[in-house]
Amino acid sequence: MSKLMISVSGVRGIFGETLTPEIAINFATHFGVFSQRGKIIVGRDSRISGPEMFRAVSTGLMSVGCDVVDLGIVSTPTVLLAVEESDAKGGISITASHNPAEWNAMKFIGENGMFLFPEKAQEFISSLEKPVDYVEPNKMGKLSEDNEATKRHINKILNISYLNIEKIRKIKFKVVIDSVNGAGGLISPKLLEKLGCEVIELNSEPTGIFAHGAEPLNKNLKQLEQAVKENNADIGFATDPDVDRLSIVSEKGKCLGEEFSLLLAEKFVLSHKRGDIVTNLSSSMASEDIAADFGVKVFRTKVGEINVGKKMMELKSPIGGEGNGGIICPEVHYTRDAPVGMALILGYLAEQDKPISELAEEIPKYYFAKGKIKVEPLKLDSIMEKIPEIFQEYKLDKTDGIKVLGDKFWIHIRKSGTEPIIRVYVESDSTERSQELCRETIEKLVR
Ligand code: MG
Repeated sequence: MSKLMISVSGVRGIFGETLTPEIAINFATHFGVFSQRGKIIVGRDSRISGPEMFRAVSTGLMSVGCDVVDLGIVSTPTVLLAVEESDAKGGISITASHNPAEWNAMKFIGENGMFLFPEKAQEFISSLEKPVDYVEPNKMGKLSEDNEATKRHINKILNISYLNIEKIRKIKFKVVIDSVNGAGGLISPKLLEKLGCEVIELNSEPTGIFAHGAEPLNKNLKQLEQAVKENNADIGFATDPDVDRLSIVSEKGKCLGEEFSLLLAEKFVLSHKRGDIVTNLSSSMASEDIAADFGVKVFRTKVGEINVGKKMMELKSPIGGEGNGGIICPEVHYTRDAPVGMALILGYLAEQDKPISELAEEIPKYYFAKGKIKVEPLKLDSIMEKIPEIFQEYKLDKTDGIKVLGDKFWIHIRKSGTEPIIRVYVESDSTERSQELCRETIEKLVR
């Protein structure tokens, strides 16, 4: 049986099994107290358990005195933006992101419209031990609805300063959008229509019955590839159920791979706004090549969008994100946002006047390989300790596990946060080299 997973990025489980309504109420009451019993904005993705989760969460919040604003089914970036632009003390996004349909989760949002910073999240988790004081009936919070959050989100995207909306509209791009029956069907087609696109919708009903694997990975996007070809579309977009990850299919009906979403967005934004960019340690080194072309640097953080967003704020980066299709554009906000990504990519297409497959060709190609080592829990650390010696002639980055930095390759070795395994990620300039490096690394570590 799966476990209830509690981490700095929220609490996740299978609804009714590990994530029960009681647990949802308990987390919500504590979050209400943690947020000084102020106003809390709540949105959810399309999962079938969403309404029950919402009822539990709102009951918990109101019983400790929080007013609750219900956004209904919306994307996670819409909830984040709604919190940022209001006087709310926090927010909760009810979504298990790309996990299968039977899962659900709560992601906790701070007053600033970003997920709780890791140290705040830790503080919140510690507060779960304390008993909760409920308020008297006359001090209970009130429930209200806000049906305009998606509209405001779209308007903010249309106001990105360097996005030439008129130019995009004139072209009338033909776009196929696959929302996997997540929350995306309620925002992406509307945004694309505002951008003058002829929109062909796939899996746009927010039923929570996911039409295919929920992650926007190549293997899950056969239907989209087919639809782009059949309709002679200019581009295909796919999002995960809570719409913070974006994948692209070229006009040839071929998946580009999630890494390309951020890389294309970087090229477009840097051509308008210079500044150092931020991505996580496991994202493609093509970012370094792109940054070098524009005379800027790449900063790398631990995996997790909050780490990237926080660093971007510090550096005032114009663009950043994660290689899993998570694009962060500070003109809208410091969180991953797939609709923002669509607008940026269409802006790039309109400006370059080339097909998306050609724009993708212009990006340096690197290849990933992945492996893992199952070990006894007690041996995890001793294996990790061998790494500096094995790779003594290389530069090592110890921000998160150990990343070995070579010439046109890197090897990232880290302990899993949830299981007794060590993960090995490699990127290099050829598939064979990456696989070889991955195999060799695993051999040396278990020797
Ligand atoms: Mg997601």
